[in-house]
Amino acid sequence: MSTLLEVSGVSVTFDGFRAINNLSFQIGEAELRVVIGPNGAGKTTFMDIITGKTRPDEGRVIWGEKSLSLLGLSEAKIAQAGIGRKFQKPTVFEDQTVHENLLMALQNKRGWLRVLFYRTSTDDLQKVEDLAVEIGLHHDLSRKAGELSHGQKQWLEIGMLLAQEPRLLLVDEPAAGMTPQEREHTTDLLLQAARTRAVVVVEHDMEFVRRLNCKVTVLHEGSVLAEGSLDHVTSNQDVIDVYLGR
Ligand code: ADP
Repeated sequence: MSTLLEVSGVSVTFDGFRAINNLSFQIGEAELRVVIGPNGAGKTTFMDIITGKTRPDEGRVIWGEKSLSLLGLSEAKIAQAGIGRKFQKPTVFEDQTVHENLLMALQNKRGWLRVLFYRTSTDDLQKVEDLAVEIGLHHDLSRKAGELSHGQKQWLEIGMLLAQEPRLLLVDEPAAGMTPQEREHTTDLLLQAARTRAVVVVEHDMEFVRRLNCKVTVLHEGSVLAEGSLDHVTSNQDVIDVYLGR
């Protein structure tokens, strides 16, 4: 598997406090990875570094086969390079239908000027259908996003991000607040999404992590404490001590 993103030796200090400490991380093309760690471990700051929201004091963030350095690039440029991020709270357009939300996300990729003057092609309509099938909302295309359940809104937002064709998708606690059935669907959706692009999931729910059945990175005090299968990391004594508290 070729490396898509390589983070090496990054550190971030906030007012003298080292939130990220010499952290290194790699993810390959079409790899699914879960990042876990106790509150304050640095998970959000780490995602902020990748997406250009926070600039590290030191280290490197290298992207793609051309080894592009992401450091110093704006958040918009990093998104354009192919990194999408989904925050915990869904941000869909509640007054628009599922179809309109997906179409908007798809056309947004071309820039707002083209959105104004661009006619919707049959190709776009087909893509909207395909995305709706992928996220399991093909029976809900004409519903207003505001009428969807919490879980459905999360899937719609994932669909809107997929419409931008990211090569790496970062997802923050996708299963939070979901019913067991919604969690199951979210598992399938993420597994499916990771077939054709890399996906990093930040998650607390261990049952959900187990179902994703992928390599896990454990963060603690801004560094990688352990990495490997869930069974491997949860049998690591350091992880047991700091995270699982057993
Ligand atoms: P996590 O997402 O794993 O809970 P965070 O990345 O949010 O952890 O935070 C890591 C540490 O950095 C925490 O101790 C947090 O209080 C601190 N921190 C995060 N952002 C800031 C900031 N802007 N200013 C000061 N401290 C911060």
